[in-house]
Amino acid sequence: MSDLRSRLKDQNLFRTDSFINGEWVKGDSRFDVNNPANRSKVADVADVGAAGAKQAVKAAAAANLEWRRTSPFERARIVKRWHDLIMENQDDLGVILAMEMGKPLAEAKGEIAYGAGFVEWAAEEAKRVHGETIAVPTPGARGWTIRQPVGVVSCITPWNFPSAMITRKCSPALAVGCPIVIKPAAETPLSALALAELAARAGFPKGVFNVVTGEAKHIGPVLTQSDEVAMIGFTGSTQVGALLMEQAAKGIKRVALELGGNAPFIVMDDADVEKAADGLIQGKFRAGGQTCVSPNRVFVQEAIMGDLTEALAERVKKVKVGDPFEEGVQVGPLIHDKAVERVSELVSGAVSKGAKIVAGGKSLMKEMGGSFYAPTLITGADMASSLAVNEIFGPVASLYPVKDEAEIIKLANATPYGLAAYLYTRDAGRVHRITEGIDFGMIGVNAPMVGSPATPFGGMKQSGIGREGGKWAAEEFTELKFVLLSGIDE
Ligand code: ADP
Repeated sequence: MSDLRSRLKDQNLFRTDSFINGEWVKGDSRFDVNNPANRSKVADVADVGAAGAKQAVKAAAAANLEWRRTSPFERARIVKRWHDLIMENQDDLGVILAMEMGKPLAEAKGEIAYGAGFVEWAAEEAKRVHGETIAVPTPGARGWTIRQPVGVVSCITPWNFPSAMITRKCSPALAVGCPIVIKPAAETPLSALALAELAARAGFPKGVFNVVTGEAKHIGPVLTQSDEVAMIGFTGSTQVGALLMEQAAKGIKRVALELGGNAPFIVMDDADVEKAADGLIQGKFRAGGQTCVSPNRVFVQEAIMGDLTEALAERVKKVKVGDPFEEGVQVGPLIHDKAVERVSELVSGAVSKGAKIVAGGKSLMKEMGGSFYAPTLITGADMASSLAVNEIFGPVASLYPVKDEAEIIKLANATPYGLAAYLYTRDAGRVHRITEGIDFGMIGVNAPMVGSPATPFGGMKQSGIGREGGKWAAEEFTELKFVLLSGIDE
């Protein structure tokens, strides 16, 4: 058993029951949460099943009217208090996150701050929900729009950002007046439950903030199909996103989906090779490569292929792998052994078709006693290999030589995904032509990370529907209503 509790300054943040209608609910069964760095058990957590999900939806629906009628200024204060509490407890939240998910402690604490940034932004935006007046054709009539909260929102979130995917999705919903029911990933429920404890302290009314833990296949259908649910916000795989959309279709429910990616990382021959190499290391190895915006296909113009490969080889070999709690570790374990096996298969499949391993290229599960995979650099993989076609979700960078802009745009777009893309060039013409030519929702030019509370986050094609972040988030969670007033001023 990994002793999580003893590492916390505030042990009340270690919660293992679901949070429904302002109460901690034990459920009829429990499931294990494990530390992927050493496979030891961290906690057993309540599985409240479909019954718990129904209870949470009912509680949220009961709280809906009161929460939506609460002054936006008051909602802003509560959401801001939640933000302040998250930041005051950043260290503990980071420890919980690192232990259940495996990202290095410093990075875990960074995720807490990144996620809290969205909460602060949402609190500010709560006060800036605006309508418009419209000139209408009928003499004497008046038209105007109002924006109102959609109602109860189900939030289904993944394990790769156990905290930030919750705050990014839920804080704008809460701020504009929607009660929420969160279902965190079974691998990482503890971060979600700690956030619920802080939400309770922040003063959200009973039923406004609920977290249900347990098996997705029982809880999911309740969250997508209950009459009282107005909208489903989901971050996860395209496969599950499609399933949830199908379930939500029966009730014509609104969906916001952040799904998989297959990010191109394009390095043009005029780029600063050293900066491109640093950027790739930063973008690729964050969360051990387990992010939907992780550079997946590195397209390199032929003239600089040799230089970039060399610059990267040197860096990849130095990336420190180890326990998330060890000082200086840059890459922790993957989420579980199955993830390591999957990455191993992608790499061996590419190698069997002629790819060359420049660094890493092996599982470290036996050697290190946890779900570890070596930071890896590959060249010469076939563009049709599983490694190129699928989201790698592991610490593996694969380089592909390309000739010119036309080929780059064609290859970058040759995927059903369209979430993030990266471009390294110093040529302004190339910046415009390529950013306009590739179909991705977010493009970092000479920048390996694109997310921030101020900017829209979301994808095109099979990478999703909708945008989180910035002023766009509030729009996702509000309905635009039109009012036509006639018969008074005639
Ligand atoms: P990943 O491959 O990253 O685990 P998933 O899409 O499988 O991504 O999971 C993302 C979230 O979706 C998790 O909270 C998971 O429990 C949930 N989930 C998985 N399958 C279903 C389902 N059938 N119904 C509802 N939620 C699901």
